[in-house]
Amino acid sequence: MKSLSVLSFILLLYMTGCSQPTKENIQVSKPVEYKVNFNNIEDPMKLTEEDWKKILTKEQYSILRQKGTERPHTGALLHNKEKGIYKCAGCGNELFTDEMKFESHCGWPSFDKEIAGGKIKQKPDLSYGMRRIEILCARCDGHLGHIFDDGPTETGMRYCVNSLSLVFEPAKKE
Ligand SMILES: [Zn+2]
Repeated sequence: MKSLSVLSFILLLYMTGCSQPTKENIQVSKPVEYKVNFNNIEDPMKLTEEDWKKILTKEQYSILRQKGTERPHTGALLHNKEKGIYKCAGCGNELFTDEMKFESHCGWPSFDKEIAGGKIKQKPDLSYGMRRIEILCARCDGHLGHIFDDGPTETGMRYCVNSLSLVFEPAKKE
């Protein structure tokens, strides 16, 4: 009898849990399964828009090649805390490490510095009536996001990057 009441209690919990609205109806996208072998791309600057359409998913294309922005709080890598390297989703250029990532609460993966070596270019962006600085992959010209000087860490910088512009390579476990 006792076990029955416990069971019905669990069932009741389950049912009320189901009837509650989902958390703000925000769907976090799944990590993109990347099939491209970056080593086969000799010079990504030489690729045509048609080539890019074949290489990238529709969503990646709209961000990387058409300077789109993914919806905030939807990126698959937003809350990723694993150890590893963040690469450009267009060409595999290594841009950030897990140690450079921080929680900015702005809705996009944020980093306070980049891997050295001129891997990221900056360009003034005056679109939408704002003065921003766009960041692009220096190897393939893919749009990554924007950089702001309001970062909370000692660098003072906040690289605000679309999750779709990145692929994550986890560090090898020892
Ligand atoms: Zn790139």
